[in-house]
Amino acid sequence: MVQTNLDPEDWEAIRLLYEEAVKDGLDYTRTIRERPVWQPTPNFMKEPEPLPVNPSPVNEVYEQFRKHILPYGVGNLHPAFWGWVHGAGNLYGVLGDICAAFMNCNVGGRDHVAVYVERQVLAWFREVFGFPASASGILTSGTSMGTLIALTVARNTQAVGNVAKDGVAEAGKGLVGYCSTETHSSVSKAFQLLGLGEHSLRQVRTNGAFELDLDAFKQTIEEDKSAGLRPFCVVANAGTVNTGAIDNIEGVAEICKQNNLWLHVDGAFGGFAILLDEYKDRLCAIQEADSVAFDFHKWLQVPYDAGCVLIKDAIAHRASFSARKDYLQGASRGLASGEPWFCEFGPELSRSFRALKVWFTIKSCGMDALKNVICRNCLQALYLARLVEEHYPTLELMAQVSLNIVCFRYVPKKGDVDFVNDFNQQIVADLHETGKAVPSTTIIGGKVAIRVALVNHRTEEADLNRLVQSVLLLGIERMGEEST
Ligand SMILES: *Cc1c(COP(=O)(O)O)cnc(C)c1O
Repeated sequence: MVQTNLDPEDWEAIRLLYEEAVKDGLDYTRTIRERPVWQPTPNFMKEPEPLPVNPSPVNEVYEQFRKHILPYGVGNLHPAFWGWVHGAGNLYGVLGDICAAFMNCNVGGRDHVAVYVERQVLAWFREVFGFPASASGILTSGTSMGTLIALTVARNTQAVGNVAKDGVAEAGKGLVGYCSTETHSSVSKAFQLLGLGEHSLRQVRTNGAFELDLDAFKQTIEEDKSAGLRPFCVVANAGTVNTGAIDNIEGVAEICKQNNLWLHVDGAFGGFAILLDEYKDRLCAIQEADSVAFDFHKWLQVPYDAGCVLIKDAIAHRASFSARKDYLQGASRGLASGEPWFCEFGPELSRSFRALKVWFTIKSCGMDALKNVICRNCLQALYLARLVEEHYPTLELMAQVSLNIVCFRYVPKKGDVDFVNDFNQQIVADLHETGKAVPSTTIIGGKVAIRVALVNHRTEEADLNRLVQSVLLLGIERMGEEST
């Protein structure tokens, strides 16, 4: 009875199980509206199980998945999911993921088709962001990793010594970078990981529209130079996570030229607004950047995870990560050819065939359909902001809508700042627990905001009407509770 390999004994039975799983997955997607957006994971699923030593019939394992795992996901497929910035995925991308899983390619390098599919995807997005054909790039788990890769190259090229060989203590001494206070935490994380420390990332104040204040930026550079420090890079935002603000990238690029700074753009989701005429003028300056990182898994609806970084200086990029010992030597022909290898453009050696779900999505949807999703989400943000304003002063809009994010709050008739902040936190938790909707929260000017990030291709205006109605109702109920 002991099997020598892991293939199924009964190929017909496994085929039927696969068919059932695909059918369940399609039904799950098709009927997503009928279920709560989110529901808590049952407690027994949080309890550790002993390591399975003996096999269980795969049909039983699948049944456990269907009953106890499938219904308890994040909820981001649901049209009323607007928390953080979560893409809703798409079925063509899922198909790509299934196909990639069958092929099980390691895309660290060598000469096989997955490498060429990834290069194809990179070429498409160089075109989208106006990067030259000579620019390098790599698909990543997300923008966090993309930014870490870009800033590694920035640090290595801008340091006076050889950071890669000698370390940051000497060669990286005095390096400082810049971003606005609204910048994503992945940038400070990158500074930690690069050994520069969070304090070397100057978080410059923003203007009233939450965009990097260029005068303050210039002044901080001057102060740092006078103090003998070495400004080396800036991260500009194409869509901040709090409010969707877009920094004046053209203005930032100008200052970078004058000061020899590496310009990295965090375009995680907002970068794709470059596809829309309304935003093109402000975002086409991304082509001035030295690097840009963005996510396919957010506004482009590719299933998790899939991000990307593009870097203009391909030679510096490769030099930062190329570490191929004897067992990783290339060849002029055969499977070991295919130079350069992707493992030379990031910290990971083994890499999945992530590009296939991107390829499937872009080809099957077409960029026009994706552009329409982005456009519709921006219009929905304006619509929601109008709804909120119609309910002033019970509801209060907390930031101008620059892109696809709406921040607002419920203002109860009485209560100090802490009370009102907690009140809005509770409303959001109520929405989650009733399964009605998933916005998230953030803090704007010390005040808790209910934050709705529209990156969902399934959302309709009626969903936003229902959200506002639910918030108003929960607010009234809660006020009743609090006053008794
Ligand atoms: C989501 C996000 C990131 C981080 O991207 P991941 O794909 O989650 O690693 C960085 N910046 C912004 C603006 C984001 O929205």
